[in-house]
This record gives sequence, C-alpha cells and structure tokens, in this order.
Amino acid sequence: MILLNDFKRQWHATKDATLAAFSEVGESGWYILGAQVRSLEKALAELWGVRGCVGVASGLDALEISLKVLGCRQGDRVLTTPISAFATTLAILKIGAIPVFADTDRFGLLDLEGCETLLGERPDIRFLLPVHLYGHALDMRRMCRIRERFGCKIVEDCAQSVGASFNGSQTGQAGHMAATSFYPTKNLGVMGDGGAILTNSDEWCERARCLRDYGQTSKYTHDVVGYNSRLDELHSSFLLHVALPLLNSWIARRRVIAERYCAEIRNKKIRIPGAPPNSNSCWHLFPVYIAPEQKSDFMADLKGQGILSGEHYPFLIPEQAALSGLDFELCGELVNARNISQSEVSLPIHPYLTDDEVSQVIEVCNRWKR
Ligand SMILES: *Cc1c(COP(=O)(O)O)cnc(C)c1O
Repeated sequence: MILLNDFKRQWHATKDATLAAFSEVGESGWYILGAQVRSLEKALAELWGVRGCVGVASGLDALEISLKVLGCRQGDRVLTTPISAFATTLAILKIGAIPVFADTDRFGLLDLEGCETLLGERPDIRFLLPVHLYGHALDMRRMCRIRERFGCKIVEDCAQSVGASFNGSQTGQAGHMAATSFYPTKNLGVMGDGGAILTNSDEWCERARCLRDYGQTSKYTHDVVGYNSRLDELHSSFLLHVALPLLNSWIARRRVIAERYCAEIRNKKIRIPGAPPNSNSCWHLFPVYIAPEQKSDFMADLKGQGILSGEHYPFLIPEQAALSGLDFELCGELVNARNISQSEVSLPIHPYLTDDEVSQVIEVCNRWKR
C-alpha cells in the first residue's frame, strides 16, 4: 500500500538518531522546559528569520495563545478561511471570538484581495488569521500592506508551510505572530503533539512564554489565567537533533515529487492547480481537483490499486455542527471554497515515497477514466 504518510519508514531511517536524542534527555534528568526546548526555540527562530520562538503543546495552542497575546477577546471578529484544519477556527472559538469566513482563491487559500476590500468596509474586524494552506505561501507583500493599511493584528497559520516562501520571504514574517504545528504529518513533525509561536516582538514572546506555563511570571506567581501548553524536552530533542537536520532534504524530496506530478499526470479529468505564482511551496499536500460526482470513484480506484488518497478538506468549517448556535459570519457565498471542498483529493506526497511509487501514482492517475 502507498500511504499518505509512512511513519514506519521514517522511524527506520531515523531510529538510531532518535534513540540518541531521547537518551540525551533521559540522561539529563530534566523533562519539561529545559535546555532542549531553549536550544530548539533558538534554532527555530533562526530558521524562520524572526527574533523569538516559544514552544507549546500543539498548533492549536500556538494559534490560540498568539491571538490572546495580541489582545483578541470575547466578541472580537477574526477574519479567516473556511478551508483549513478545524483547529484554525477552533482557536478563535475557544477565545469566544467571532470567526468571519471569507472566500478562498482558486488554490484554496484565503483570497487576500477580497480580505483587503472587506477590511476597508469593516473597521470592526481587528484580527486576520490567514493559513498558508497545502504548503503554499500566501502573498506576503499583500499581507504586509494589509497590516499597515488597516492596523489589524495578523496571526499567520504556518502549520502546513514550514519551508515555504513567497518571492523569497518566508511565511510567518508578515504577521505580528505566526503559529506552527509539529503534528506527525506536518513537514516538521514529531512523534506526538507539539507546536511553536514565532514573533519579532520580545514583549509578545514573553507573554506567550508566561501563558503557556499557567500564566506564571515567576515561580508561584500567576498574574494571568494561562494554559498548560508546554513543548516537552523529548520532542524538542527530536526536532533539534533528528528532524531539523533533515528538514531541507525532506522538503527538497517533496518538491521533486510535486514537480513530477505536475509534469507527468496527464488526464483531462484530473485538474492540477499547481502552486500559486511566486510561492516557493513546501508541498505539505498535493491537491488535485476531480468533478464532485466522480471524486469517490477516483479515490476508490486509487485505493483498489494500492494507493491511499486524502481530502483536505471535504467540509467547509462554517458548516461543521460544532459551529451551529455559535456566532460567526459568512462573507458571500464562498463559491471557490465550496467548489474546492467538493472536488479536492490529496495524492500521496512525503519524503519517504520512492521514485517507483511516484511513477505508480502517476500511472494509476493517467489510466483512470470514468
Ligand atoms: C495541523 C494544523 C493545525 C493544528 O495543529 P495541531 O498541532 O494539530 O493542533 C492548525 N492549522 C493548520 C492549517 C493545520 O494544518
């Protein structure tokens, strides 16, 4: 079976280095908020080209804490996308803030042009939570312009965009803060949960550091109501000694696979959106579009030939039952987003996919007809 992610292969390729990284933590006798977390935060800030990084327990927490740090409170409106991991909206809801869903572009990413127009008409929307979806980078220049023109606070969701850049600017550098996730499937994943907050502001960094650890400002002193959201030493050590040294080769491999899919899949019934102009994508996922009435047939055909595929994401977030009865807003009919949610299928793309397997996926796609 060709899997969407092959963690067993990753384990076999990284086992010795991983056990050594875990052993280092064991030998240190220090498991929470120690030297590994501090070194990792320094390395990640450097990698991202920002001043500060705060490790937290998940991508969801990274988003929620970032919004909190920027002053987002109950009743505040947060402009965001209807196509993402549910966690993006969940972070807004958990604060009691009100998600405002705008349509996406043809790549499935929040349409920033539409956002600009909307923000011009709606000064009550004070926060923007865009997602660099599928590993594609949103237009960073436009995001900077939005930040300057409207004075709204921006948290970039970089959970899927580690390693992606727009015209040379890495994702996460345009907003006030950025959040990422180390969930296993992500481009920079751990063997469990984890996340990080990135920002150029020392003050916001300090606030996030305080919030992740029960709102402690110093030992036994709690000035705010915080969280238990600490990235642990084991995962930090894994990231530092195993995943980060491999990250560039992992992303390079994803790019090679994406390039082959783009060049070699030739089937009129499979639309390949590719990457948005100027985005040097890190290809967290490889989405293709299939006519909605043929989508399940396509996925079943792949599965019948030993290839698993995914859907990102088959339902619009505002249509999830969890939002019924809650306050949220839709900007228009969300036509693009709806089309994409009905037609998107994700082909396998991960660093441990072999050339033969990539050829197999291409062949099966090219043979599929209905
Ligand atoms: C995975 C993901 C998250 C949530 O990260 P967790 O670590 O699972 O909490 C948020 N946003 C996006 C776009 C994601 O892909």
